[in-house]
Amino acid sequence: MDFDLGEEAAALRARLRTLIEAEIPGDFLGAFTDDPADLETTQRFCALLAREGLLTVAWPAEYGGAGGSVWDQTVVREEMWAHHEPRGPQYMGLNWVGPAIMAFGTDEQKRRHLPPIAEGSVIWCQGFSEPDAGSDLAALATRATPDGDGWRIRGQKIWTSYAGMARWCVLAGRVGPGERHEGITMFLVPMDAPGITVVPIDSMLGPHHLNEVFLDDVPVGPDAVLGEVGGGWAVIRRALAHERVGIARYARCERLLSLLADELRDAGTQLPEHLGVQWARALTQVRVARLLAYRAVLAQEAGGPPDAAASAARIAVTRCDQLVAELLFQVLGDRSLEAGPGAALAGAIEDHWRYAQAATVASGTLEVQQMIVAKDLLGRPG
Ligand SMILES: Cc1cc2nc3c(=O)[nH]c(=O)nc-3n(C[C@H](O)[C@H](O)[C@H](O)COP(=O)(O)OP(=O)(O)OC[C@H]3O[C@@H](n4cnc5c(N)ncnc54)[C@H](O)[C@@H]3O)c2cc1C
Repeated sequence: MDFDLGEEAAALRARLRTLIEAEIPGDFLGAFTDDPADLETTQRFCALLAREGLLTVAWPAEYGGAGGSVWDQTVVREEMWAHHEPRGPQYMGLNWVGPAIMAFGTDEQKRRHLPPIAEGSVIWCQGFSEPDAGSDLAALATRATPDGDGWRIRGQKIWTSYAGMARWCVLAGRVGPGERHEGITMFLVPMDAPGITVVPIDSMLGPHHLNEVFLDDVPVGPDAVLGEVGGGWAVIRRALAHERVGIARYARCERLLSLLADELRDAGTQLPEHLGVQWARALTQVRVARLLAYRAVLAQEAGGPPDAAASAARIAVTRCDQLVAELLFQVLGDRSLEAGPGAALAGAIEDHWRYAQAATVASGTLEVQQMIVAKDLLGRPG
């Protein structure tokens, strides 16, 4: 299988690796650790990428982008995820919040929100899931009631990533009598609005990651509505498809396997046959994930990733995440838990394993993704 994206892509990849090598500490494992310096690293790095025209490489120039292709964007996301996502929580703004505002926003919303995302100076969060609305998102109960020419929003969100550090939230609420998909409306809500309380949820994903968000009659203006009143489902579908393609963890899996090969070679270790077979299986799944991700990008190039292509890619990515996590543990045993200077694979194994467990739930569970693909194959509406 030839995954070569051409000379320009290779040059872009090399440029990104040089920047990462120069700016990101060798033991960096992402923004969500106990060390606040890691979050600061991502903020500095995003500002640098923005100055270099690499943060929103595929956005149109009129919105602060570099006017590149979705393949340039693919190279950027692969290099970022391969190196523990040094854009931190920013990837969400770049991958789907910005594009959703471009597609559904008013001119004023575009003027206000797109430049700070392109500069890497604002963190967004996603307020979709609720205690009784996860896989069945159309059951969401957060309600927006008309108030003057604006709205008051009341309800509760859960599992909201980065809510404690975000300045803005794309929030799904229900307006009017419409049931299920019909009544859903998207709001752009400042996280410092009165009536918002964020409560962190302790989890194995580390501090800052998961939160509950309580909305107690939060006032927002008429300009907070993204898209049509009652038209939120179209925004959600598009957002989720972009999000699912945007998480290129297959690139991290491939890099971890290659680091593992270096480690074993240096130690002169021969693997027993059964682990060699497991390795081949994991690597095959990594390549399948890359192929399906590229198919979704092709569909995106043709006008927006259809749900099924994005879900097929997501299924493969989460599977390879878990297979590689298991393999790393099997091969290195106790050394997988090492941390600090000299740790095997710079301490990345345990971190990778923890997120791999959550991967088949985040952004829609494995079963939900399989259902989207099955409905598409059977020609049923989504
Ligand atoms: C790391 C992480 C980050 C997240 N970040 C965010 C975020 O930023 N914003 C946000 O809004 N949400 C976020 N979520 C929430 C995530 O989208 C939901 O957890 C997910 O959609 C599942 O919903 P649920 O937790 O309510 O589980 P449920 O929907 O209750 O599902 C429970 C189980 O039942 C299965 N199931 C449910 N319905 C069906 C069905 N019809 N057929 C077959 N099986 C079914 C599911 O597959 C699952 O195994 C995050 C979750 C994680 C793990």
